[in-house]
Amino acid sequence: MKFSGFRVFAEALRGHKGWKPLWRDPAPQSEYDVIIVGGGGHGLATAFYLAEVHGIRKVAVLEKGWLGSGNIGRNTTIIRSNYLLPGNQPFYEFSMKLWEGLEQAINFNAMVSQRGILNLYHSDGQRDAYRRRGNAMHLTGAGAELLDQDAVRRMYPWLNFENARFPIKGGLLQRRAGTARHDGVAWGYARAADLRGVDIIQNCEVTGFRIENGRVQGVETNRGTIGAKKVGVAVAGSSSRVMAQAGLRLPIESHVLQAFVTEGLKPAIDGVITFGAGHFYVSQSDKGGLVFGGDIDGYNSYAQRGNLPVVEDVLEGGMALMPRIGRARLLRSWAGLMDMSMDGSPIIDRTPVDGLYLNAGWCYGGFKATPASGYAFAHLLATDTPHETATAYRLDRFARGYVIDEKGVGAQPNLH
Ligand SMILES: Cc1cc2nc3c(=O)[nH]c(=O)nc-3n(C[C@H](O)[C@H](O)[C@H](O)COP(=O)(O)OP(=O)(O)OC[C@H]3O[C@@H](n4cnc5c(N)ncnc54)[C@H](O)[C@@H]3O)c2cc1C
Repeated sequence: MKFSGFRVFAEALRGHKGWKPLWRDPAPQSEYDVIIVGGGGHGLATAFYLAEVHGIRKVAVLEKGWLGSGNIGRNTTIIRSNYLLPGNQPFYEFSMKLWEGLEQAINFNAMVSQRGILNLYHSDGQRDAYRRRGNAMHLTGAGAELLDQDAVRRMYPWLNFENARFPIKGGLLQRRAGTARHDGVAWGYARAADLRGVDIIQNCEVTGFRIENGRVQGVETNRGTIGAKKVGVAVAGSSSRVMAQAGLRLPIESHVLQAFVTEGLKPAIDGVITFGAGHFYVSQSDKGGLVFGGDIDGYNSYAQRGNLPVVEDVLEGGMALMPRIGRARLLRSWAGLMDMSMDGSPIIDRTPVDGLYLNAGWCYGGFKATPASGYAFAHLLATDTPHETATAYRLDRFARGYVIDEKGVGAQPNLH
């Protein structure tokens, strides 16, 4: 079934009785060419690009819960490509270009909205750092504008410009950045992969790997053993636990990241704003809720819920930036499990086990990377060579000293 405006109109005329489930519910086969562990955004995108770009269709995505139950359905939906370093910026700009064509590629409304992101600066030193970042962004065509205080005031006159401690002096604006509906992205990739023959198997937890003579032969699951020529692991915050089943210890820590949404309000913020003097960022959802977040919880955890000290910290940041947020009522908060790498950048690489591949270390910025991550991981799985935009994302870079020391990724576990 192809989605289109005409289709919506036709279904409306016949009581919406013609819609079908977005993907099948197949039983696992005994053997696949490729198994992807993890039905989050990255796993589903990988399966889609394996089928679409490389013609590899005997693929299964194994998800221990329900599709979208992980971070793909928990994030604050921000997409951007405002990175600094050569190892990162081309990758995230590639992702942004894929976002720009995504809805046509997967024939699904993922509500990609290029409403812009504004990173505020509060000191001359921070302005200079943002100017450098903006110049790096121009090198890949990402686009960036350095705004002074007057320009920011024209956009958001109600921000707290006179804050004695953190006066707003200006901001770095990327107009092509914005938001996308996170669960729509998961559903869209799932449907598009399913249409190309990929088996999406929910409630199927990988509990071990079958490894013989240093080569992966398949996986053990709660639904039996499933054979595979290649296995790609994309389980985000569960990466250390899953890879430990293959005897590997990762340079990754798992932390909780919380997010918040207020009651629906009239249109107030038409883009994404990040506070530069504390950890707080905010946008407004299409339903009107202010969606915001901040720092990770400062200790390791596998619980998908956070604690009050960070709630207080995030709300303090919000009050410092925009005091009027204090009058909004908080509707709910939630949390996800972040796979924090030790340099804040991801890993897309082979592992010491032949046929076993790893996609991890997204810290709290992996949603924006979903299309490029899936594309690059599919490229690696299909060709055994890294995609040109992901050559720096090696698993051994920590041992070799080639870390990608990107400050723009936000919180890093080595700072806690
Ligand atoms: C509160 C919050 C806000 C965020 N905001 C942003 C943002 O604004 N912008 C941005 O770019 N990023 C953001 N992120 C980060 C982003 O969501 C993640 O980096 C990204 O979604 C991780 O990739 P994924 O979608 O594949 O992960 P997930 O959706 O977590 O997928 C991993 C899947 O693996 C499954 N799994 C785990 N173990 C097993 C097993 N043994 N067998 C089978 N399946 C298994 C899990 O159930 C899960 O569904 C945010 C994250 C959170 C939590």
